[in-house]
Amino acid sequence: MTSKPTPRLPDPAPRICLLASINLDLVVRTETFPSPGETVHAHSLQRYAGGKGANQAVAAARLGAPVAVLGCVGDDEAGSWLHQALQNEGVDCSDLEIVPDCPSGTALITVDDRGDNHIVVVAGANAHPCAEWVQQRGAAITAADVLLLQLESPLAAVQAAAHIAHQAGVRVLLNAAPAPTVALPAELLACVDLLLVNQVEAMALGKIEAQRVVTTLGAQGSRWTEADGAQWTRAGYPVSCVDTTAAGDAFAAALACSWAAGADPESALAYANATGALACTRPGAQASLPYREQVENLLRGTD
Ligand code: ADP
Repeated sequence: MTSKPTPRLPDPAPRICLLASINLDLVVRTETFPSPGETVHAHSLQRYAGGKGANQAVAAARLGAPVAVLGCVGDDEAGSWLHQALQNEGVDCSDLEIVPDCPSGTALITVDDRGDNHIVVVAGANAHPCAEWVQQRGAAITAADVLLLQLESPLAAVQAAAHIAHQAGVRVLLNAAPAPTVALPAELLACVDLLLVNQVEAMALGKIEAQRVVTTLGAQGSRWTEADGAQWTRAGYPVSCVDTTAAGDAFAAALACSWAAGADPESALAYANATGALACTRPGAQASLPYREQVENLLRGTD
């Protein structure tokens, strides 16, 4: 019996297009959360480039994929910084719009000494894309091998992007994150080839009508389920976990790359589990995203 070869991505890797949310993450650390009307002092203030879409774009670029984003930032200092951060990673920002008189998307995150967090998200420029805005940029979608979507962009824009890709035969991967508060429209799900959820999102969606669903299971790994009931599960990689922020984003990007490269379900899950696990070994969101060589070393057992 021959053992299965270690999963690898081809060179060049598949082309990934994202309709991406792009956020400035402002993180303050405090001893406790303030009660209503109370003022507390923070230990520290840090700023990070974030947003699920931008994180996934950077993760895919670090795996060696050509990546293009459709997205918006505000005409503020944060917007220029976020734009530059994506360009520094080699992400094609030709379809990134700077929206006048609009703040960039911002997440205000308070973390207390117990590690619990409170998050307030200001959509800002991320609320700008509508169906027509996406249709005007359809060429970036049809030039890709896979369209990677999340639910931090307006649903009408997500739906328009999925429709364009579906019509053009471009694979559509929808990461239904953050957990939807309304049922996803049937017209959207009909255009989705692979739906990716974590366990919280799976609960929020209930019974899912999709061709194939990948569910992430934290440290336990992930599961792939086809509409006909066929199922594959791959255990997670045991790592020394420091911070799970962006593990789901790393997983999503790696799954998009390996699935679009034609990997079978078990190999695609293995590749994505390894990428997600490595993102847990370092603090932060984009700062923790691994490069292809690190992922393939972990898969080969040579890290
Ligand atoms: P999310 O970050 O979206 O909540 P999960 O917690 O399920 O999603 O994590 C996504 C993936 O990252 C998992 O499927 C797994 O591959 C990897 N992962 C997450 N936590 C760990 C961990 N503690 N150890 C190893 N891998 C992990």
